[in-house]
Amino acid sequence: MNTVKELIDYWKKDKIITDRKVLDAFQKVERENFISEHLEKEAYADVPLPIGYGQTISQPTTIALMTEALELKKGLKVLEVGTGSGYQAALIANIIGGKGKVITTEIIPQLAEFARANLKKAKIMNVIVLEKDGSQGHKEEAPYDRIIVTAAAPEVPKHLLEQLKEKGILLAPVGDLYNQEMLKVRKLKNGKTKTENLGDFVFVPLRGSEGF
Ligand code: SAM
Repeated sequence: MNTVKELIDYWKKDKIITDRKVLDAFQKVERENFISEHLEKEAYADVPLPIGYGQTISQPTTIALMTEALELKKGLKVLEVGTGSGYQAALIANIIGGKGKVITTEIIPQLAEFARANLKKAKIMNVIVLEKDGSQGHKEEAPYDRIIVTAAAPEVPKHLLEQLKEKGILLAPVGDLYNQEMLKVRKLKNGKTKTENLGDFVFVPLRGSEGF
């Protein structure tokens, strides 16, 4: 895939992504702004790309599936663990709009800086990048309508679940270092949860107190 149009046509044709809001966000938020200049030609290749420090910006199809699974709407408050390039946060921010807010956490200081610069280039205003171990979440802004973890976790981080609102959705790749299941956890009444497995994925590991 060389262009965002080719990518979107492929998702539509094979019914991989059907949520109009997600398709529109991919059209509006340019992936070029979130990768190094020398990789610009590969911006819409459906593969993860290196962003330095041993980390990656995830494959577009993975990002799109996760964004769709979050069931986003305007005005939500979303926590992301694993800012990386800032691209996933930017797509969420685009969908939830100016009345919504994304708080995203990144454990590698240089990547937090990289993401802030990328978000500025892309003129995305409703994202706050925090340089911290996000595996315990960010209590100060809790509770959240949605929580997304974009690194492989050994289990669903319990602090994150505590910081999720009732009826909220938490999405996290959970497993070992080599393979993870994408878990979509919905918080029900009385602290109960309902979990759906969206399939197998491979992510870089979650670090920090709840990570590997
Ligand atoms: N969402 C990112 C994007 O759109 O580019 C891609 C994320 S990358 C696959 C995973 C990121 O999680 C890396 O940047 C890594 O440094 C970060 N990370 C790992 N453990 C973390 C933790 N405990 N807290 C915050 N960030 C963490």
